[in-house]
Amino acid sequence: MEQTIIDEFWKNVEKTPGCWNWKGKLRCNAPTITYKTKNYSPRKISIQLAGIITNQKRLKPVICKNNLCVNPTHLVVDDRTYFWNNVQKLSDDKCWNWKGLINTEGYPIMRFGSLHNSSRITYSPRKLSLQISGIVIPNHTMISVKCRNKLCVNPKHLLWNTIDRFWNQVQKTEDCWIWTGYTNSDMYGQLSYHKNSKNIVVGSHIYSWELYTGRQVPKGILVCHHCDHPWCVNPQHLFLGTKNDNTQDMVSKGRQNRGSTVIFSKLTEDKVKLIRELRQSGIPVSQLSKQFTVSKTAIKDVVSRKTWKHIP
Ligand SMILES: [Zn+2]
Ligand SMILES: [Zn+2]
Ligand SMILES: [Zn+2]
Repeated sequence: MEQTIIDEFWKNVEKTPGCWNWKGKLRCNAPTITYKTKNYSPRKISIQLAGIITNQKRLKPVICKNNLCVNPTHLVVDDRTYFWNNVQKLSDDKCWNWKGLINTEGYPIMRFGSLHNSSRITYSPRKLSLQISGIVIPNHTMISVKCRNKLCVNPKHLLWNTIDRFWNQVQKTEDCWIWTGYTNSDMYGQLSYHKNSKNIVVGSHIYSWELYTGRQVPKGILVCHHCDHPWCVNPQHLFLGTKNDNTQDMVSKGRQNRGSTVIFSKLTEDKVKLIRELRQSGIPVSQLSKQFTVSKTAIKDVVSRKTWKHIP
């Protein structure tokens, strides 16, 4: 930087214990220095003289909001300062309400850089809040709030572990367990999370079944409801089946309601195939017995091909 410009800078600055007020020329209401027909930003000069390195694109007096200020520490804001400036913290345990920017869905965001600049960075104050409290979570982690307050950024109210996020959205009753989170148009609950930086959406009843059994639902197999409530995630109400079983289950319930037990304990060719497939994928005999309402021996016989030999 040329000495003349630096001299020009200091000549026009009136330092106070707080702001450094610009006494020089203004251009578009912002401090400016004109030297040899070129314009220079006193704010940039101030930052450079202070030896501050920043990625911040917009050098505005973010701290004091005094349009004439060129105090370098009032121009640059580190993300933690920005965070604390935008949080209303009443106590350690109560909600910390975010007073800063929010996105279109009403969730807290932080943003640095010029409004017209594509390099503008947007990120989550919640993630920063966890970091400040010493919890480092991987990139692309979804965060929910226990308190259900959209604006809350209290790390004690935040959940980032998928299992915790799942339970946070379940309301247990003696009968069905109600999914209180997002449901699709068919009323099935949906749980989304990030895995290997991909966004994954899974049916919450499927997640529940897998969590309960510690197994993965085999490909092409559905997780069906005995209770006919798509939003229910009580694993005791869930069973594995095919599209066919799902309809048969509904039909059978219709029949049961009419007082018939005809379908009870009856296996079909489709069910036999399914039992063998499920057993092979590691589903225990006891669980298959419950699911198909036949005895364990019947399941074992089907699997060992003692019965239903003609089915390959
Ligand atoms: Zn200032
Ligand atoms: Zn809260
Ligand atoms: Zn249920």
